[in-house]
Amino acid sequence: MTVPQFSGLILHFYVDGAQNWERCRKTFEVIESLKEKYGIVSVCLDPTDDYAYWKAVQAVWGSDDIVVIEQDIVFKEKHLLELLKCKHKDCAFAFVLYPATTQLAAPYWNLAENYLPDRIRLYSLEEKPKFCQLAWGFVKLSKETQSRIDLASSDLVHWKFLDIGTIGRLPDLKIHVHYDPELEHAHKE
Ligand SMILES: [Zn+2]
Repeated sequence: MTVPQFSGLILHFYVDGAQNWERCRKTFEVIESLKEKYGIVSVCLDPTDDYAYWKAVQAVWGSDDIVVIEQDIVFKEKHLLELLKCKHKDCAFAFVLYPATTQLAAPYWNLAENYLPDRIRLYSLEEKPKFCQLAWGFVKLSKETQSRIDLASSDLVHWKFLDIGTIGRLPDLKIHVHYDPELEHAHKE
């Protein structure tokens, strides 16, 4: 397998302690195996600071194309390659949000329509939109898209609302969605 041309930053975000969580074990293993080949940077977040994730994203925002990988996304090299190789500048991989962790009545995709200023609609699993306005967890965001959102002078955003507080500010954003191969979300319960 060859590494495609991607000059941006591949960032793996995790809260300190997740190294020891069973549900994050596989992700750390994959990161370890691909780290050197892809230059993946792991960013350890302070679990006592609800704004640590925001600060870390803000620190790199607009400096380059980025890929964001969260701690409980059980991806494989082919998932990463799908995003890196895709001709679209902003892409996300779809994965399932489970009711036990979201208090939703049913499983939904991590993909949403975005009705500014404060309402989103998650896509149900029967829907498979080719593009969405809001997605996080395993995403590629171009420098160009980031440059349209001023995070430097923004107020702090809680980690739960990181997507809404960043790309959620762009009502016209079209994120290309990937479904294949299926991506496992280890945060099920
Ligand atoms: Zn794509």
